[in-house]
Amino acid sequence: MHTRIPSSALYISQSLLLLYLTLTQKKSTMYISNLQHFLNEQGNIPSEMPYEGREMAGFLALIVDAATIGYPNPEPQTVIKCINKECKGTLNVKVDTRDGFIFWKCNTCREEGRISDWQKTKWDNRKL
Ligand SMILES: [Zn+2]
Repeated sequence: MHTRIPSSALYISQSLLLLYLTLTQKKSTMYISNLQHFLNEQGNIPSEMPYEGREMAGFLALIVDAATIGYPNPEPQTVIKCINKECKGTLNVKVDTRDGFIFWKCNTCREEGRISDWQKTKWDNRKL
């Protein structure tokens, strides 16, 4: 006795497996941020901005501050806590002088991001 599995059934089971893998895989987040979007005309973080926005702006400002000390080769390890509240990691930073991006990445989880338009903000420590 030999049972043949129809190829369509095999195909469906493979598709379901792929779907399962896609759904259960931990998503990594890449935060793409333009610092100017968090600032008012005076270059400050507006006090009327909702809490989450101010929290994010403060987080980005800390990164720009750390990444521009010793620019263009900042100390990669910072003491900035990960944006993921359940994570105990700290951030590593680096700058891309060609595109003007600051990259940050948690040393423990998969959170990471890229900051643009930070130049000449209050947290830019470059000696120009
Ligand atoms: Zn983390």
